[in-house]
Parts: sequence; C-alpha cells; structure tokens
Amino acid sequence: MLDGYEMTVGLEIHVQLDTDTKIFCGCKNEFGAEPNNHTCPICLGLPGTLPVLNEKAVEYIVKAGLALNCEINTFSKFDRKNYFYADLPKAYQISQFDLPFCEDGHVMIQLEDGADMKIGITRIHLEEDAGKLNHAGEGIASSDSSLVDYNRVGTPLIEIVSEPDIHSPEQAIAYLKKIKSILEYIGVSDCDMSQGSMRADVNISVAPKGSDKLGTRTELKNMNSFKAIEKALKYEPKRQIKVLESGGEIIQGTLTWDDEAGKTIPMRSKEEAHDYRYFPEPDLVPVILDQEWIEGIRETLPELPDARQKRYVEELGIPEYDAMVITADREMADFFEAVVEEHNDAKAISNWIMGDFSRLLNEESITIAEVKFKPADLAKMLKLMDEGTISSKIAKTVFEEMFATGKDPDTIVEEKGLKQISDTSELEKIIDQVIADNQSALEDYRGGNKNVFGFFIGQTMKATRGKANPGMVNKILREKLEG
Ligand SMILES: [Zn+2]
Repeated sequence: MLDGYEMTVGLEIHVQLDTDTKIFCGCKNEFGAEPNNHTCPICLGLPGTLPVLNEKAVEYIVKAGLALNCEINTFSKFDRKNYFYADLPKAYQISQFDLPFCEDGHVMIQLEDGADMKIGITRIHLEEDAGKLNHAGEGIASSDSSLVDYNRVGTPLIEIVSEPDIHSPEQAIAYLKKIKSILEYIGVSDCDMSQGSMRADVNISVAPKGSDKLGTRTELKNMNSFKAIEKALKYEPKRQIKVLESGGEIIQGTLTWDDEAGKTIPMRSKEEAHDYRYFPEPDLVPVILDQEWIEGIRETLPELPDARQKRYVEELGIPEYDAMVITADREMADFFEAVVEEHNDAKAISNWIMGDFSRLLNEESITIAEVKFKPADLAKMLKLMDEGTISSKIAKTVFEEMFATGKDPDTIVEEKGLKQISDTSELEKIIDQVIADNQSALEDYRGGNKNVFGFFIGQTMKATRGKANPGMVNKILREKLEG
C-alpha cells in the first residue's frame, strides 16, 4: 500500500480512572455535571493549596500495569509539566516524567490472518487531567472563542505509551481494542470513548522500508473513535509520502483530523519534552510501594481476555475466532458463560451470541446490561430446540421476542402457538394437501426435475407457518413424491 515505505505508529492512550474522587482533592470525579460544579482551590491550583494523592488511583494504575505485563516501580515520583495552553488554568500539570509507576510491559494482539503479535508498552504513568475546552464554532482550529469547564481538572488519568512496534492501521486498532478490553476486565475505567474516558494521541511517521531510523512524526491529539483513528492512519502516511516524494520535508507538529473532509489539518508545530520544563513536584513526596502490597493487587486480577479465550478454545471447544470476539467484551463473556452453565452446548450458544444476539444489540444499540432476558432463558430456548418442541427457524422468532419483551421462551411458544408439528399423521395430511394443490410441480418432479423438491418444502413450511419439523417434512415428502 505504501510502496517502498513503512509507517510507524506510536500511541499514547489516556484513560480516565473510575475513582470516586479526583486525584489530589476530595472533589467528585463524575462525568456530566453542570460546568465548574466539581471544583475546589486544590484542583484549581490556587496558591497555598496542597495536593494529597488519592490512594485508589495508585491502586488502579498498579492494577493496570500488572494486567499489561509491566514492571512496577517501587519508587516513583510526581513531576510538574509546565506549559502554557488555554486548557490549563494552573499553567502546570502534575504528571510523571522519569519515574513512572509502570514500565516495560506488553500485550498480545491477534491479526485478521490469525497471527499473534506482541506490542511493547514503554511506560504507564499517572497524571491529572488538565481540563476541557468547549470550542465555539466548527472546531478547535477555526474557533473564535472557547468556554472552560474545570470539572475535569484533576480527574485521575493513566497514560499508556506504546513502543514503536505498530506498523499498520489494523495493528493499531487491534492494540487499542485489546487495551480497552483489558482495562474493562480489571474494572479501573469504563473506557467510554464517547464520554472521553479513553482517548488517544496518535503519532505517525514514515520511513523508507528497511531503514533503521524513524521518520519525522506528526501527532493527532485526543482521538476518541476507532473509526476516525483508522481513517486517519490510512490517510496521513500517504500524505507524508507524497510530501517526501515531491522533495519536501515533514514538519513535526500537531495535526487535527477533519472527519468530514477526510484529511488531517495542521494545528501547531511540535514542542519537545524539554520545552515542558519538567521538574519534581515540590508539593508531593515520592511514592514508595511495598512489594507485598503489589502482590496483593496482583491476586485481585480477574482472568484476563487472553486466558479466557484460550480456555474457551481448549475446554469448551469453540472456534478461536468466536472465542476472541466473545472474550473481547467482559460483559459478553460473562453472559456467554452464564448460558453455558445452564446448557452444555457451548458451540450452539456461541453461534447465538455471535449471530442474532450481537446483531440485535447493534440494531437497538443497547449494552448487555440492558438486555431484558436472562442467560437462563437462552438456555431454555436451546433446550426447546433440542427436544424438538421448536424448529431452528421458529427459534429465531422466539429469540427476537425474548429480546424485545424479556418474556420466558415457554410463554412465548405457548402464547404465539409456535410449537413444532412433529406428529406424523398431522404432517402427512398437510403434505397430501400441498401435493394435491400442486399437480404440475409433481409431474415436473416425477419427470426428473429434482429441483422442485425445494419448492414442496417451501410450500409445506408455508402451510404450517414454519412450524413443521423440517427433518420429518423432508422424509415424508421424499416418500410421497417418489410415489
Ligand atoms: Zn477539587
């Protein structure tokens, strides 16, 4: 795609931690309040105030670090990052520079061709959110004025910085999805991208294939949609190559992604780390973590998506792909397992979860927590199928009704008269009528056109409104048509 060039993507993922209060004060850490309602002198950084570190935030970053295979530094400290920007009322942000809590981790991702790939994580550090601007007009680049909301100032964030291991949009998206999935599993964040709980700064560079030097990079800040990131990652390297091929130079800087125009737009040229003038935060002492405390947190980690996926394949015998899709979402995996506990046919259950269940969730855009029926109801429906009470075709109707109303499958079958017709004499009567009504088709069949068989099946199903036992219809029809 990139003819002779290779792209390299660096991702800095910011994730808002789900603590009750902010990172250095007692203000509520809550989305959606009236602007500037959750503020106090500490999070506004007024002179003379002293920040106090929220222990829960430390617990959460350590949990994230362990889940992402990092080394946990037992000696860590906070630093001040000084810069002037309109969304920063204090003119500094408390972050971490040389001694972050977590370093040197990795995650495994699965690519579409089935291959596994390891993506390194350089570091994960803890910092406060600097705040939020609401831009008037169409966007940040063209805005006349901006409104500041300080509610988000002091929200605990972790920043997960990747190694330059990512070389395609597919790998980048798989990595982002894996990180999101793991953080949801361990419950440190809801990772809701639409509310900004998870967003990414995306660095993109290109270099001639085989080169051991990275090209000059451009950065897209605060991306909060997988779709937009994917589109930007398809566009930006091509733009850079075009510049290079025409003898130009890539200017290091921050871009913004214009989704409507489908292109990147320059915003400002890039500052380097030394431009931020980091220095140790004078109001916070270094944090010393006890190894035993860290091990205690390790013990609270749940089974993570990779382990769960492996177990589904090995113990439940479901295909690797199904296992990957189901385990990517903890709620989905929990739901699946709850059905498996009630009904011992994991493959059938995975088919329903991957098929009609996912389709309806999508169509109705609801989450699994909002689903009206219980896992046991799906198990019950599958039992009705196994017993032959309903056909697989009718099961689809039952399932949709269950999804729409939350009613029990027995009740639905009863109320809608959906019981399968498996009575031989009753089916024979219906089939005789179908044949009598379609004499010319019968002649066709007997004249050698065996394709007409499907037509007779269809007519019989129509006559029984789909309730005939398909296996029996097949057998009786064949006998009768052969004469
Ligand atoms: Zn506060």
